[in-house]
Amino acid sequence: MFSRPLPRLTLRNLMLAMAVFSVIITLCNSFYATYEVQRTLLINNTLEANRVYAAKLAELTESFIQSTRRQLAYSAGLLNNNMNNEQMLMAEARRLHEQSNAFNSVVIVNAKGIIIAASPDTLQVKGVQLSSANARQSLQAQAPLITDPFVSPSGNYIISLSHPMFSDNGDYLGYVAGTIYLQRSNILGEILGKHYYQDGSYLYVVDKHKTLIYHPEEQYIGERVSNNAAIDTVLAGKEGVLNVVNSHDVDMLTGFAPVASTHWGIVAQRPKEATLASINNHLFNVFVKSIPIALLTLAGIWLSAIFISRPLWQLAKSAEKMNKQDVQQDISGVRSWYFEAAQLKSAILRGIALFHDHINKLHTDSHTDAMTGLLNRRGMQHMLDSYEQRQTPFALIALDIDHFKNVNDTFGHDIGDNVIKQLALIMQEQARRNDILCRSGGEEFMIFLPATDATNALEVAERLRRKVENTIMDDVGSIRISLGVSHWPGRAMTIRRALKQADIALYQAKHQGRNQSVLN
Ligand code: GH3
Ligand code: MG
Ligand code: MG
Repeated sequence: MFSRPLPRLTLRNLMLAMAVFSVIITLCNSFYATYEVQRTLLINNTLEANRVYAAKLAELTESFIQSTRRQLAYSAGLLNNNMNNEQMLMAEARRLHEQSNAFNSVVIVNAKGIIIAASPDTLQVKGVQLSSANARQSLQAQAPLITDPFVSPSGNYIISLSHPMFSDNGDYLGYVAGTIYLQRSNILGEILGKHYYQDGSYLYVVDKHKTLIYHPEEQYIGERVSNNAAIDTVLAGKEGVLNVVNSHDVDMLTGFAPVASTHWGIVAQRPKEATLASINNHLFNVFVKSIPIALLTLAGIWLSAIFISRPLWQLAKSAEKMNKQDVQQDISGVRSWYFEAAQLKSAILRGIALFHDHINKLHTDSHTDAMTGLLNRRGMQHMLDSYEQRQTPFALIALDIDHFKNVNDTFGHDIGDNVIKQLALIMQEQARRNDILCRSGGEEFMIFLPATDATNALEVAERLRRKVENTIMDDVGSIRISLGVSHWPGRAMTIRRALKQADIALYQAKHQGRNQSVLN
């Protein structure tokens, strides 16, 4: 019969695999959670920082604008009665230009659009007639104005902050204007650009037409930005944050705030990727820091797995050799320190005890003669093997009831059986502790007398013969027996030969008239 091969998986390996799996899942889960939390936190923090930054700069810009307006208004008030005083006009233009770094240049323009004073002198625009529509924005407005960007007569891309001048009777006289050169270093750059970060953060400013009037990369100045939700929102006058994709398809975390008086929008932003890059570092640190604990946990689990699975493993191994003699000792030595192992251990021990009892009983049964309780032929052979193995010298007596057929014939087979049983009892009574009694066949017996010489054995045989002769058996009265004695090793070399010699002696006893013992 074929039995299925045993599975190779052990409880310990299963527990280990389960533990490693759990540790990995837990680690991955905590890494993922850490990543998600950090990411959200970082994004929100960056958005908020950008908003606050844009709002701060919008405030600074606003206060700069207000201050320049007051300066221009003051100059306009000073000049509106002195439009013909060329020296004064020049002096005021220079003062406005040089007293602060608010303007790249200052011009004074009359009502016809002719530049009547300018600073710095190097501009050489005095007397120039402003002709383009853009350059004439302030003339048309006849009110305080911050122009849209335009190209000035001197060729600079500028915005101009102007204040009108009126005569006492209300005639428009022209305006005084300070300019900001958008593509040169200017006051906006000083206010806004100082905080330009190395990490990819930057800030730009759009005017109310979505035209870039400040950008750290000069080539973008003057460009109109469309499809930008942040710009749309800030130009609607709202402060806030947004995650937008810029014109270069870069994902940006954007904070923005409007400059109310100019309707400009200030936008501070940082690439999302640069913001999140620090998380990878952070996660790597988390990973490195969690390695020792993870390893300790694994080692702990590994030891626990060994400790927990050991009793079951030992029980399983012992169960493999159930039929071995020392298995009970092995199993008793198993430290079953928890319920299941303890139950299994006691169940296996009980099972093995039953098994061995059963085996022993079978063994005894197969070696014992049922009728007399003496050894049968198989038991006798087993015993002789052991004598031979240990080289135990012994004497033996072969015994046969005389004329037993007559007993059977006269009293019946059952009474014959009884006689055999009674004879066995007598033999047992007469035997010494180490003597071994066998029923070798029907009404024939063998007695083995270890460490007894032949002469002694003959005496034992005679004593037994007399005892039987003098005993009254139930129903049949007295019976007689004949006995043949031999010895091993003695003359006989083999045990077989010794048995044969005892038989020969018995035969001789029968032949010589029965009821006697003969030594061979
Ligand atoms: P001898 O003196 O020559 O031994 O004569 P005997 O009649 O005893 O002859 P033998 O030993 O050859 O015959 C034994 C008889 O014992 C034969 C058989 O019927 C009887 N016998 C053998 N085994 C048993 C048994 O278990 N029970 C009974 N009742 N009789 C048995
Ligand atoms: Mg016989
Ligand atoms: Mg006989």
